[in-house]
Amino acid sequence: MIKFLDLHKINLPYQAAFHQKMQQVLDKGWFILGDEVKAFENNFANYCGTKHCIGVGNGLDALVLIFKGYIQLGKLQKGDEVIVPANTYIASILAILQADLVPVLVEPRLETYNINPDLIPAKLTPKTKAILAVHLYGQLAEMDEINTIATQYNLLVIEDAAQSHGAIKNQNSVINNQKSCAAYSFYPGKNLGALGDAGAITTNDDELAKVLFAIRNYGSEQKYYNEYIGVNSRLDELQAAFLNIKLPHLDNENELRRNIAKRYINEIKNDKITLPFWNQTHNHVFHLFVIRTANRDELQEYLKQSNIETLIHYPIPPHKQKAFSPETSGWNTVSFPITEKIHQEVLSLPISAVMTNDEVDYVIQILNQY
Ligand SMILES: *Cc1c(COP(=O)(O)O)cnc(C)c1O
Repeated sequence: MIKFLDLHKINLPYQAAFHQKMQQVLDKGWFILGDEVKAFENNFANYCGTKHCIGVGNGLDALVLIFKGYIQLGKLQKGDEVIVPANTYIASILAILQADLVPVLVEPRLETYNINPDLIPAKLTPKTKAILAVHLYGQLAEMDEINTIATQYNLLVIEDAAQSHGAIKNQNSVINNQKSCAAYSFYPGKNLGALGDAGAITTNDDELAKVLFAIRNYGSEQKYYNEYIGVNSRLDELQAAFLNIKLPHLDNENELRRNIAKRYINEIKNDKITLPFWNQTHNHVFHLFVIRTANRDELQEYLKQSNIETLIHYPIPPHKQKAFSPETSGWNTVSFPITEKIHQEVLSLPISAVMTNDEVDYVIQILNQY
């Protein structure tokens, strides 16, 4: 059986180091916002090339706290509209709602699965104050175009980088812009995964960083003195310790993913299958390798019969979710045909740094026989 994602195998090379680190943290007896969190915040900021990294509880909180931080700074107000791709994981949209802002959904390009910047201007109103760009499946959104629109209309740009660790490195990304920030998730299955929930925000904005360091910790800069209405969403000390061990290997693991993606793209030859688009000027990190096919469920069953496990990212688009019924959002009554087509046709093939050549051979062979 080729598993979609073998988390045991992925973490196996680090096990001895994890055990040692756990013992070290136990011996020290400091479990909240200690040296490991500080070290990871430094390490990850360096890795991303940003001034600040703020460790938080998970990826959703990273997004929510960014919006709350901007509200605290007076750069956003309750009820402001935020442009967000219709084709994204639901967390992107939930974060906007949790901060009492209004998500405005925009269709993706069918080829890239990412937001189509050409469609953004028509969705702008006087209430639009920000764009949440999502680098879906590990491929950067069209940030040059998005930044141009943002500059023209004076909008904040926030990046949902939960699937794109490392993709922004050496890129002319918004992260180099003093005003913006990115949210990361270290959910175990992400390219940089912890052994539980974890997340972070990266930014070059000193003012925003100061507020975020406080908001994640009860709005407090000094214990028992609360400057802001905060939450408890701190990066866990042990998770930070695990991430410190894994971070130095991220680039190599991303390279292994890209090598598998290259093989899939070059060697899968089947008219029934549309392979993912890869803009070669981008440093795609292939969090997911997502193909499209007309009879998706049939192909998934065929692969299952051949002992290849696949997943669907995602089966139901956010605007069709029960949680966003007409009473709560009105979105169920609108249609996003490209987003809906993607959700009907996509299938994610196994891809990870621990997949063997033989396994990749086998997946290719079975797909070519379909
Ligand atoms: C995983 C993910 C999140 C949320 O991360 P959690 O750590 O699970 O809260 C947000 N956005 C996208 C695009 C994701 O894939």
